[in-house]
Amino acid sequence: MEPGPDEIIACPHCEAPARAPAPRKTSTSMGTLWTDGYFDPSPNPPGSPQVARCPRCTRLFWLAQAKRRDKVNGPKPPSHEGGPPDIQLPAPQDLREAVAAGLARDRTEEIRLRSLIFQADNHALRRPREAFGLAALTALVGALLLVLAIYRIAFGANAGLIALLFALASLVLLASGARDVASSARTRSRRARAQQERQSGTGPFFTNLRELFDLLGERDPEERLLKAEAARELSEFDKSIALLAGPWPTPLLAHEGRIRALAEARNAAVATVPEPSEIEPERAAP
Ligand SMILES: [Zn+2]
Repeated sequence: MEPGPDEIIACPHCEAPARAPAPRKTSTSMGTLWTDGYFDPSPNPPGSPQVARCPRCTRLFWLAQAKRRDKVNGPKPPSHEGGPPDIQLPAPQDLREAVAAGLARDRTEEIRLRSLIFQADNHALRRPREAFGLAALTALVGALLLVLAIYRIAFGANAGLIALLFALASLVLLASGARDVASSARTRSRRARAQQERQSGTGPFFTNLRELFDLLGERDPEERLLKAEAARELSEFDKSIALLAGPWPTPLLAHEGRIRALAEARNAAVATVPEPSEIEPERAAP
């Protein structure tokens, strides 16, 4: 998963140069596929987005449409040394703005943008639950050891180098535990917000997903599969199952089987797709 050299690109709107991360080389055998089509580790965001914001004129553009100027190897120079600034990665809100601003010039580009929004909206539910209890315990043990160390140093019981190192180690433990507690709390709050929105049945997630559902056709198997997934995540399970009817190309069987099983279980949550080897033999057979 070695990143290639970064590229210097020119903004298609104002020609300002910017540094863009090169797409990562990803093998489909080494990663996790999700029911919404997101592949992790992604060859695109956050390593290299399909849509970026120009650091100078702040307008959004398709990275594929930017002129390539140069490849740059090696680490980035510190910002005070100059050099083109990094392109800005789009947040889900930026992508919604891009749709509203007409960045998609045809149906295919609108499907691409709305799929990116759909996947970005699902990111909050994709992260594994972090071990909040373990992080809190680490912070607590660090805090107790630090108090003990300070007490020993302050009262002269043990004021040597070892006591100082012990205090330092306790401080590192406390900082690491506190950082994990904060990160876990942020993940939990993002997940809770996303779940709340899903339960309400309204909001930007549903607006985008309904538009995406309407755009997707039924002729192309990959589009039909994404349409079935959109229906499932809209909690329209019967519609999803109906879209999954018919023969499927072998490479899509695992994905189709997973969406079907979830739709039959009336489960609207984004989920991982198992490796083909994990599928029942009769399902994998043509
Ligand atoms: Zn620009």
